[in-house]
Amino acid sequence: MTSKRTRDRLVERLLEQGVTSQFVLELIANTPRHLFLDEALSHRAYEDASLPIGFGQTLSQPYIVARMTEILLGAAGDPKRVLEIGTGSGYQTCILAQAVEHVWSVERIKPLQDKAKQRLRHLGLNNVTYKHADGGFGWPEQGPFDAILSAAAPRDIPKSLLQQLAPNGVLVIPVGADEQVLTLVIRDGEEDKFITQKLEPVKFVPLLSGVTR
Ligand code: SAH
Repeated sequence: MTSKRTRDRLVERLLEQGVTSQFVLELIANTPRHLFLDEALSHRAYEDASLPIGFGQTLSQPYIVARMTEILLGAAGDPKRVLEIGTGSGYQTCILAQAVEHVWSVERIKPLQDKAKQRLRHLGLNNVTYKHADGGFGWPEQGPFDAILSAAAPRDIPKSLLQQLAPNGVLVIPVGADEQVLTLVIRDGEEDKFITQKLEPVKFVPLLSGVTR
């Protein structure tokens, strides 16, 4: 189930769906997604599906992780400092941590983040700093960021996330309630304005306020 063939099949599917970055496809092929699931579900790890991780949350679908990473890396050039909202299982965090210099990851459900932290340490990824907090406020003390990725959907883009973008920084975020759109915002460095592009319909868990212990 975790064989090279199974993973190659997943990569082929992502290619068919239009993911073009060879770098991102290789990251997906080389990242052990089964380690981010409970054992009972790990046999489904290389299906292109979102899967439950407890607390009513889901491990994002590989397609969406690949797409968001590709968009983020493509739009931001060579991002070094990246903020992630919604650590969840840590799978997207793991992909980002292999692609950029440092990731700051915020999660509102403590037990999920604790597990994610353990998994990434186990995989030898030490370039991630975690915070148990409401990520709707970003992480002002650590900003500005070259890129911000949100794995949870707000109804409207939080102003604090925009404010924490560096000049030419990019935000990749699902936006909306019943109907959500994956959205890319680029902070124009010269005129200090925000350029927004709506990319494709998506389905994410909502960005909730407050924290759970
Ligand atoms: N990329 C993650 C996705 C997890 S689902 C993975 O593949 O596992 C989205 C996560 O966002 C959930 O864990 C949820 O608890 C978290 N979340 C929702 N609202 C949040 C908020 N305001 N601040 C931080 N995390 C939030």
